[in-house]
Amino acid sequence: MQLAKTYSHKEVEAKWYAYWLQSGAFKPAPGSGRYFSMVIPPPNVTGSLHMGHALNNTLQDILCRYKRMDGYRVLWVPGTDHAGIATQNVVERRLAAAGLTRAQVGRKEFIARVWQWKQEAGNVILHQLKALGVSCDWEHERFTMDEGLSLAVREAFVRLWEDGLLYRAERLINWCPRCKTALADIEVVHEESDGSLWHIRYPLADDPSEALVVATTRPETMLGDTAVAVHPDDPRYQRFAGKKIRLPITDRIVPLLTDSYVDQAFGTGALKITPAHDFNDFELGERFGLDRISIFDADAKIDSAAFTSRSETGEWVDRYSSKDRFEARRLLVDELKEKGFLAKTEPYRHSVGRCYRCQTVVEPYLTPQWFVNIKPLAEPAMRAVREEKIRIIPEGWSHSYFAWMENIKDWCISRQIWWGHQIPAWYCLACNSGSVIRGKDGGYTFTKDARPIVARQAPKSCSSCGGSELLQDPDVLDTWFSSGLWPFSTLGWPDQTEDLKNFYPTSTLVTGFDILFFWVARMIMMGLKFMADVPFREVYIHALVRDEDGQKMSKSKGNVIDPVDVMAQYGTDAFRFTLAAMAAMGRDIKLAEERIGGYQNFVNKLWNAARFVLMNLGDDAAVARDGEQGNSTAARSATGDRNFADRWIRSRLAQTIAQAREAIDAYRFNDYANVLYQFTWHEFCDWYIEMSKLALNGTMGGDPQESRRLLLELLEQILSLLHPIMPFVTEEIWQQLPNKNGRSLMLQPQPRSDRACIDEGSEKEMEFLMGVVRGVRNLRAEMNCPPGKEVKVIFHGPERDLELLRAQEAYLRSLARVGGVEYLTSGERPKGAATAVIGGTEIYLPLGDLIKPAEERARLTKETRKLEEELSRIQKKLANAEFLGKAKEEVIEKERAKSAEYQEKLRTLNRSLERLAEMEQGGN
Ligand SMILES: [Zn+2]
Ligand SMILES: [Zn+2]
Repeated sequence: MQLAKTYSHKEVEAKWYAYWLQSGAFKPAPGSGRYFSMVIPPPNVTGSLHMGHALNNTLQDILCRYKRMDGYRVLWVPGTDHAGIATQNVVERRLAAAGLTRAQVGRKEFIARVWQWKQEAGNVILHQLKALGVSCDWEHERFTMDEGLSLAVREAFVRLWEDGLLYRAERLINWCPRCKTALADIEVVHEESDGSLWHIRYPLADDPSEALVVATTRPETMLGDTAVAVHPDDPRYQRFAGKKIRLPITDRIVPLLTDSYVDQAFGTGALKITPAHDFNDFELGERFGLDRISIFDADAKIDSAAFTSRSETGEWVDRYSSKDRFEARRLLVDELKEKGFLAKTEPYRHSVGRCYRCQTVVEPYLTPQWFVNIKPLAEPAMRAVREEKIRIIPEGWSHSYFAWMENIKDWCISRQIWWGHQIPAWYCLACNSGSVIRGKDGGYTFTKDARPIVARQAPKSCSSCGGSELLQDPDVLDTWFSSGLWPFSTLGWPDQTEDLKNFYPTSTLVTGFDILFFWVARMIMMGLKFMADVPFREVYIHALVRDEDGQKMSKSKGNVIDPVDVMAQYGTDAFRFTLAAMAAMGRDIKLAEERIGGYQNFVNKLWNAARFVLMNLGDDAAVARDGEQGNSTAARSATGDRNFADRWIRSRLAQTIAQAREAIDAYRFNDYANVLYQFTWHEFCDWYIEMSKLALNGTMGGDPQESRRLLLELLEQILSLLHPIMPFVTEEIWQQLPNKNGRSLMLQPQPRSDRACIDEGSEKEMEFLMGVVRGVRNLRAEMNCPPGKEVKVIFHGPERDLELLRAQEAYLRSLARVGGVEYLTSGERPKGAATAVIGGTEIYLPLGDLIKPAEERARLTKETRKLEEELSRIQKKLANAEFLGKAKEEVIEKERAKSAEYQEKLRTLNRSLERLAEMEQGGN
């Protein structure tokens, strides 16, 4: 039984993942016991693993592995999202590289190519997740566009329609002219931007010498103006009551309205009204029954058909026809200036909405769209959180949830793209002959007046006229519509499957806050609607991974750390441990690569400890208990017949297990990781292993065989405790322990805290002993005593402490290289000794034994002089204005740090010299 000298993560990781997969360890255990289920937040099929995914999935995997070992039937459902626009963009770029466009290949062929792309290049991220060690049940893998999920989407759509929760209406929506699709409000990113405010003269129709001045940030939209509005109380415009306005350029006559919605303080207090291109104007237009003139086509270019259909023809139509909106703006401003309509232009800062995917300026655009009537769904979803049927953790996020849900608007679910779930609505051409609009690219759309037939299957004929010519709605559903069904569609809904019975509601959802509304809120609404139960009982919202300075990682900043590289370099366990150890609730992670290197040392520390244990087991297989872990040795220890070190480590283990469990149950992943780290590294490796050497070599009396057993048992428990965070190295070690016979650590029970082992007395005594050992070690170091040399120590203190030290003298001798020991409860303190105080006990190291005073003085003096020279050089540099002016901040910082370090060293040297002087006096 021997482990390799060093741990090699590269070979080990792939080996054990394949083994777990093949052994079925990721599948839920059969039976009907308590379960723990989760659905993965499905990454985009186009995606590749970034830090956010790595954190999200590491935390999920920790929960799953922990619960599985703790006796739950665990199901973790993996899968990917078809990611409508993102995927369509990828495939469009591939077409473009081949000199083709989407329109050229046509819808059917395009979709075939998307599937082909998915086959070849999609799912990269799933392979990367496997490298991360995720213990998903891959037999449950789903894709939002697979057959079952498509069926669920249709079912949900039809039921919403039947329940009157869906409608189709012409509404102003956010339109991305590049992605050519509607965007939900939350898909529009608003930011302040520098623009202009143009003041334009709008003459009265019956008296061109009189004019109102309107102010606008978007003069080009005046081609679609259908009114001007002022506040009814505005004294500047009382005399214009009832007048008509002649629009510049188009000469269209529009009414002057009064409405209290108009802000008198904005610009001149007169507003141009463009119902088809402004959300507020749209509402005002509805109140006054105004025309809506949509002046743009889907590319946000001026659509001359909008005017010619209104018999507005002429030179101006030709001049602006097909011009991009920004070019149209320039032309129009020029023309206004030329014709004397432009009163003035002033710089103006205002908010501009951009597409969250491509940053194109979003255009309010008038199109028929499908909407979910959301209020009836939002009410129960708020209640579920209020009544704590769902707990959002950390709790602060529930406030954001309520704030958003209370102001929720109807959800526009139609998207004008090809890749996605095509809306299950059909239009009879005979009944809707006036409502079909044929596009240039061979496509078609339907006007707001078209009457849809919503059905689960394509209808053969029209129910009102019997006509058989039916066309399906060309739009597809918002990606979040299908992912909103994810917690139950992945379990087989709408069929009443065993999986639904066994694993719904899911236990926990682990996600980032950025999709709390896009996704989490929708799942809650849909789950309550279709399953009549919450989709999950708890939602854990984790923070962001930033760079070490707290900056968001981004390609443009060049501060991205690639998880795939990190895993290759440091090993996946070290990486996972870093993420867990830094995942403090509600606090962003500032990730420095050195941290991962640090936890790689922890992996190696564990490896070396395991090597030590295995080497000491020898070839005696009887040391290992056969069978599962148990508390057999624990029971023995509770009777008090074990030695001090054993009692102490058992007590610490019991406390550690209790703390770790408490932490993970409360999603305090960082506490969970750190408690285990402290115990493993500092208590087990640094102290217990060292102390156990005495028991193993017979110094402490007792049966060395018992000590071997305990060492092995402690190692087993540590491996079990660490496995959820560091699955690979723990399994590798586990499988080399005696009598495992190929049983995976993954399926071993998670240790439980044995309260009977908690021994506060031993812990206190050990604290004291550790303090004394550290004290002696520090004194030795200060006096430059060679590590191998034994020293004499004199203790002076209360009887109780000295008794303890006497009892544990063997440890003291071994851990602090102590030779002779003297105990003094009273009387004179020794002179000429280095001293330290621990609690009420004084430690004396007689220096005469250690050093030759003259030689030591010479050494210390020489070192002091050297340091003083070096320090003075640095201080001169730091006082030099030229250096301070020229050098980089980090160079100066380094010099300052060096200066502080040297000063500290000098203080220590001086202390040693003083001590030497005292000793020489005392010794005389
Ligand atoms: Zn876009
Ligand atoms: Zn019909």
